[in-house]
Amino acid sequence: MKYPLKGIILLLIVNQLSGQEIRVSDDLILKKISNNCYVHTQNNNNGLIYINNGQAIIVSTPDSDIETQNLIDWVRNERHSKIVGYIIDRWHPDAMGGLDIVQKNDIKTYSYELTRQIAREKGLPIPEIGFNSQKVINVGDKKVICNFLGEAHTTDGIVVWIPSEEVLFGGNEIREHNGWVGNISDANLDKWSETAKRIKKEYGAAKIVIPGHGNYGGPELIDYTINLYDLSPNVSTEKASEVFLSTELKTDNVIFIKAEYDSLHGGERILKNAIVVVQDSTKFIEIESPQIIYQPVNQRINSETGRVKIYDKKNDKEILRIDVNYNRLIVYEYDNTIGFVVVLRGIENNNRN
Ligand SMILES: [Zn+2]
Repeated sequence: MKYPLKGIILLLIVNQLSGQEIRVSDDLILKKISNNCYVHTQNNNNGLIYINNGQAIIVSTPDSDIETQNLIDWVRNERHSKIVGYIIDRWHPDAMGGLDIVQKNDIKTYSYELTRQIAREKGLPIPEIGFNSQKVINVGDKKVICNFLGEAHTTDGIVVWIPSEEVLFGGNEIREHNGWVGNISDANLDKWSETAKRIKKEYGAAKIVIPGHGNYGGPELIDYTINLYDLSPNVSTEKASEVFLSTELKTDNVIFIKAEYDSLHGGERILKNAIVVVQDSTKFIEIESPQIIYQPVNQRINSETGRVKIYDKKNDKEILRIDVNYNRLIVYEYDNTIGFVVVLRGIENNNRN
């Protein structure tokens, strides 16, 4: 009884030592993962630093200006390296929220051309140098490869490959091994698994794979992602219900509810056999479930099981992008540019034949 416990404690100590954690600030932590690579993490949100011969490149910004500056200062002051580029791997604020600070530091910024386009449309700071599908950047006498391999968590997410270290930054294209499907509000669920297969084909030999959130691992994270989003044969293409075509939704109403029973318990509305539609400037989210819990104060929705559809608003038309059955759903407003996020624990094929 005592023996295995000792083993576990020893393992924990060894793990902590080998992690080589560097605390840059209260919020920003670095972990050395190979000779010349560090993962930077703020609020469970990962990025990468690669240093070679006095030059450095950083991938993904923390979502705050302060931590982005702390990160840049650490590379310059503690590692005495010139930052030759900053790679933005997707348009979401947890990847480019600190972009304006990077640009104020006179660092060249790189992104997939579509990321620049989305940033322009949303009125966000725009990465300086765009590329189509692939970009090779020199760091010292080594190369770093940025690659767009298809739509997944967003339409514009890229991966970054450091050949000399065999390290792959998978961004949000790759999921951590925690059993949650994550935020799918801007995702292409039909393509995600295929995109991950393409990542495996190109970089399946990676020694270390870093997901956008959570713990890094090896290439098994790519396989995990392929399976997690594998909804084959296909997601239901059943026609949309007419719910959100009602005129009420064309007004300022953010949330429109149809429910068989609607009761209030401690500030929460418990909706039975309900359909709830949430909208922001770019999309409608329609939730259909035996039970939906709605918190009016913070406009947050929880539900254990049901069906969720996401429609994009395109030139006054609604285009169905996602239609899946879920287990465990959380919907809440992130900010003005992202709008509502839809976080799921599990997704299932919609078998309504
Ligand atoms: Zn994201």
